[in-house]
Amino acid sequence: MSHIAFIGLGRMGGPMAANLARAGRDVCGFDLEEVRRAAAEAQGVRRATTARAAAVGAAAIITMLPAGEAVLAVWKELLTCVDRDTLFIDSSTIDVASARAAHRLAREAGRPSLDAPVSGGVAGAEAGTLSFMCGGDAADVERARPLFSDMGKTIIHCGEGGLGQAAKICNNMMLGATMIATSEAFALAERLGLSDKTLFAVASVSSGQSWSLTHYCPAPGVLPAAPSSHDYRPGFMAALMLKDLRLANEAAEAVGLTTPVAALAAQIYARYVASGEAERDFSGVIRMFREGRDPEDELLGVDHHLTRA
Ligand code: NAD
Repeated sequence: MSHIAFIGLGRMGGPMAANLARAGRDVCGFDLEEVRRAAAEAQGVRRATTARAAAVGAAAIITMLPAGEAVLAVWKELLTCVDRDTLFIDSSTIDVASARAAHRLAREAGRPSLDAPVSGGVAGAEAGTLSFMCGGDAADVERARPLFSDMGKTIIHCGEGGLGQAAKICNNMMLGATMIATSEAFALAERLGLSDKTLFAVASVSSGQSWSLTHYCPAPGVLPAAPSSHDYRPGFMAALMLKDLRLANEAAEAVGLTTPVAALAAQIYARYVASGEAERDFSGVIRMFREGRDPEDELLGVDHHLTRA
């Protein structure tokens, strides 16, 4: 039985590769960092000393890397050293242009490929409950489905190559904006004397409802399992939300679309990350509004300018 190569064994890739191994698959993994390789090995993943060594003879290669340049560099290297029917799958979150470029490289080399970014975070990767958003040929999605099922619960074919990444950044664009809107509302409620629990009771059954509120309420002590009730330990790091909002804004700019809310959301997360909170959960952004860290802050002042007649 040919094996699965897994390149990038970090916070997400490590547990994803471990779940494939736990499902009985032969998984050979590589990461630039020795500590990641050793951690994956302890979870049943065979350790390779190079990406190429992991890839040779593989039925499928899954990449889980920080950015588009890394994915393109790894794919370029591996496309020439594998069998013709080896399926290339990128599950990283990267820019749509790089995702399309990766598909192009694979097509030119005569190899099948999918972009299949995920949502569900580290907890979803560990629990095997990720959602996969796939771009590429339907037949390749079907081929990869058993692998995705070992790592996740939901598999959606979004269309041609690159549209998995498009779905991912559009989703996270909504998530970033609703988290900020929810945080602002809780900050205002507090100043007006309305308790967090009461606002939650009202909004969670009213039109202010969203996933950011009902599954991930940014006000502490409302949902016991939410990061807000655990000093904003991630969860989903603010730095990654900033990354995804930047990818969304870049994609919008590339197609000539104006997205003012996403642009402001990226600025707010940039400010939050720069205040030393990059590794805090993204719902911690509520503290910027509640604590009013800088009353002269020109960014937070924008709203008031806009609301004046
Ligand atoms: P991470 O930094 O923990 O892991 C990335 C790993 O890739 C690192 O261990 C690094 O050493 C390795 N790496 C980098 N370049 C490499 C190369 N050329 N060859 C081999 N290994 C290489 O990041 P992560 O949190 O696991 O995220 C991975 C991807 O998943 C990112 O694109 C991220 O945006 C996306 N993502 C993350 C989350 C999350 O909650 N962490 C959720 C959804 C999507």
